[in-house]
Amino acid sequence: MNERWFKQAVIYSLDVETFQDSNGDGVGDIPGLIARLDYLARLGVTCLWLHPIHPTPDRDDGYDVADYYGVNPRIGSLGDFAELLHRARNRGIRVMIDLVVNHTSNEHPWFQLSRSSPDSPYRDWYVWSEARPKYLTEGVVFPGVQERTWTWDDAAQAWYHHRFYEFQPDLNWANREVRLEIARVVGFWLQMGVSGFRMDAVPFVVEDPRADRADGHREFGWLDELRDLISWRQGDLVVLAEANVDRENIPEYFGGGHRLHMLFNFALNERIFLALARQSAAPIREALWWTPTIAEPCSWATFLRLHDEIDLSRLSPGERQECFEAFGPEPEMRLYERGIRRRLAPMLGGDRRRIELAYALQFSLPGTPVLRYGEEIGMGDDLSLPERYSIRTPMQWSDKPNAGFSTAPEDRLIRPVITDRDYGYEQVNVDAERGDDESLLAWFERMLRALRECPESGDGRWMLLDSGLEQVLALRFDGRTGTTVAITNLRDEPCKVDLSTDLGTPDLVLEMFANRRYGTRPRDLASLDLDGWGYRWLRLEFSN
Ligand code: MG
Repeated sequence: MNERWFKQAVIYSLDVETFQDSNGDGVGDIPGLIARLDYLARLGVTCLWLHPIHPTPDRDDGYDVADYYGVNPRIGSLGDFAELLHRARNRGIRVMIDLVVNHTSNEHPWFQLSRSSPDSPYRDWYVWSEARPKYLTEGVVFPGVQERTWTWDDAAQAWYHHRFYEFQPDLNWANREVRLEIARVVGFWLQMGVSGFRMDAVPFVVEDPRADRADGHREFGWLDELRDLISWRQGDLVVLAEANVDRENIPEYFGGGHRLHMLFNFALNERIFLALARQSAAPIREALWWTPTIAEPCSWATFLRLHDEIDLSRLSPGERQECFEAFGPEPEMRLYERGIRRRLAPMLGGDRRRIELAYALQFSLPGTPVLRYGEEIGMGDDLSLPERYSIRTPMQWSDKPNAGFSTAPEDRLIRPVITDRDYGYEQVNVDAERGDDESLLAWFERMLRALRECPESGDGRWMLLDSGLEQVLALRFDGRTGTTVAITNLRDEPCKVDLSTDLGTPDLVLEMFANRRYGTRPRDLASLDLDGWGYRWLRLEFSN
């Protein structure tokens, strides 16, 4: 048996601080999340990815960690976290946490000790240069907001390197003590009972900023060592890596199945948006053709929206402009000269048919789907908030004050709830959708339930079928469990497709999920109807 739980998972991404507040202090917390586990179980998610849970000065929404072995007291205690793991597991839900180890907060004791003296044992845990570095601004991650990647420190009398903001000094992965400590951090949380990690900023972890950048050298041995140190602790652990790199570099990150288990498919993500803008399946077909074949134990993670901007930087300038015009026409909707900082529903004009199309498409692509909290009810964004906070507003549970997120006075909320006319919590909330079979939430529940009966769609070998139509994406998945076919029409016009050549003559065709009941019979495969923006997931049964 080589079952990989993560290949059949539905991963739900959330920040504890904005999900549910239980004690009325305006900040979401672990007991609040525990109280919502039944909601998540009913929705059908099988794994949570929690944004950083550690103590932090919170200058970058927790991505500036001050203690890897603790829980941010604002969201609860280590005991609360253990309780969360226990209760989630009882509902069949696993938990992954963010592993943010390219850098720490500048308030982390390691950095404070490092800068305190050249003789400190922690001195070499960060990347220092006593000489003025040649390029102070090379490689900024947040253009337009961040100015430089080296900053002078008076206490250390040296420059320190930081790929991100100046309050996030980069750890020196070339130092073996650092790597051993990170392995201890990973081992600690595995011992607590997490199932894996979403590893932040991996391309920057494997670069040595003091090496010659021009040669593009990457030190993947560091990741091999980490995997080696931890894989015996827990055999089914998963590292889901954020590595938005050129496609020719991707195989190195998977390392033939011996390095990272999963990567977000960024190239596919930006081409899904190009496909939606053009009402054509061609950009997705291209992205799938380009997608490198990966070793059997590995998997892709698919997504439409995560907690960051949609990164369109690998599209051509013309393609990027098409996406901007379609989904981010106003300058305030764009970010870092490369992306869009909106939720999906407003990007698609709140059009229910297009939202369904987009998510049915994502959930039927090769890989494991990742869903961002609030997308299942069609939440909107708040463009008055700076940078990526526009899409990090509190979950909308009900039409009660503060969207049922918190009983705190409005001015004490960690972030304002959305109150606008179209996406405000009085219109868009879980309570309203929970009781409505026609709601987007009910639709998501049906889709996730259908996905459970198509396990090969995440796990199986996949092939692109020739639909004969530019606007129709047709994918076939074959696994030990059976055969699933997913057909998606990206254009708002009905059409017919003939898949009889690729699909043969099954004895039975089961319609697992579709935009409406089509009533498919085996002989229909030569002429399958698809509504405009329609989708059909079929399961084929053959007698031999
Ligand atoms: Mg609280």
